[in-house]
Amino acid sequence: MSTLHLDPVTTGVLPRVDSRLKAIDEKVRAGVRLTEADGNLLYQTPDIWTVCSLADLVRRRMHGDIAYYNVNRHLNYSNICALSCKFCAFYRKKDEDGAYEHSLEQIAEEARNAVSGGATEIHIVGGLHPWLGFDYYTDMMRIIHDAAPRLHIKAFTAVEIVHLARISKRGKEGYDGIKSVLKDLKDAGLGSLPGGGAEVFDDRVHDEAYKGKIKARQWMEVHQAAHELGLNTNATILYGHIEQRSERITHMMLLREEQDRTLKQWASDQGIALQAAADHQGMETEAVVLSGEDAGYPDERLPMPETCDAGYYQTITPLPFFPDKSELEHLPAPTGLENLRTLAICRLMLDNFPHVKAFWIMQSLEMAQFMLLNGADDIDGTVVWYDITKLISDSDGDPTHQETGVWDLQKAIRDAGFRPVERDTLYRPVERDPDNATDWRIATT
Ligand code: SF4
Repeated sequence: MSTLHLDPVTTGVLPRVDSRLKAIDEKVRAGVRLTEADGNLLYQTPDIWTVCSLADLVRRRMHGDIAYYNVNRHLNYSNICALSCKFCAFYRKKDEDGAYEHSLEQIAEEARNAVSGGATEIHIVGGLHPWLGFDYYTDMMRIIHDAAPRLHIKAFTAVEIVHLARISKRGKEGYDGIKSVLKDLKDAGLGSLPGGGAEVFDDRVHDEAYKGKIKARQWMEVHQAAHELGLNTNATILYGHIEQRSERITHMMLLREEQDRTLKQWASDQGIALQAAADHQGMETEAVVLSGEDAGYPDERLPMPETCDAGYYQTITPLPFFPDKSELEHLPAPTGLENLRTLAICRLMLDNFPHVKAFWIMQSLEMAQFMLLNGADDIDGTVVWYDITKLISDSDGDPTHQETGVWDLQKAIRDAGFRPVERDTLYRPVERDPDNATDWRIATT
């Protein structure tokens, strides 16, 4: 029961109760899609605990007491980038201190190390490298696949894929060029796409903070092409810099519409009822809502990798902006409560995204625990090297060794009151031999 239904005298929660949330409370309980105005109210209300308790209700409806983690390795093959996004502290220019580029042999070694550490996934992203040819990327997929055939390769953000289309001289072919690049990468071993590079889908914010990067339409086209090729993808929102909160809601609505477009045909074929809704421009549309009371989630509510070759968005990961060492260093970072609220709103607005991730590297493991109680169902993995954004910065700009063991992740999840379930990249439960970490398989039940 939400705080809206509690007696304010006996509970003492009166100062937090916002009666304007009553209609949202009723919609969430009935599994009805929230509107843009609802989303904006979820940001404006001082009653953050009702926002969080509603997100928790949806999260438990979808995932019960399960909280996911995975055993993975992150690899940044190079930080040399042709662009200079203002919020980015990762990129370096050629010959600049700290610039690096891994050889294919180094990457193969990373893959072998990942396997010997029990990883099921390698997560690869980098800058838009100005002179590496397209062969480097397809060779990268092949060399990893040869060195570690069972390792799932989740690699390249949408902006990197568009860059690869350009350097392989397919940039002018538009959507077809992007799709053929993805097909080449898939044939070489690519298994799915991460969700980075989405930032905030707004032209004003784009032109001010990451001009030169692809805009929303192109980001979504990359993911659409991936879905058509049967690759699952993910999404992010990088918030807390120069954008308005209302622009975050628009971003969530655009992602939601894309997932509708992706899932609609499949859902109709399965006999899953579509819901009448309005898009971000107020036009009538039909929606796929996964967060209602319906039994059978997720097996009967999403295309399963074993039986279907249609891809979709798996996870939304809200990423707080870190100002340190970026061109926007003068801005304050978002607060813990803003991070919590944004994650809870993602859970409520993105009713057709199966998963919401509290990425512990950027939120801290302690905050990720709290987020499990407020909408998140996944905390990501064991990671090892993460160079994009460091929660704990080093002094000389070298990559930071950020690693936590499976035992730590499981303990964090259990202490938050949930049941830890190891997943692979496609959210299939993983079983492991307790005496041999490298002996793992996809659970059959
Ligand atoms: S955010 Fe990505 S594209 Fe922008 S400067 Fe950083 S590495 Fe380059």
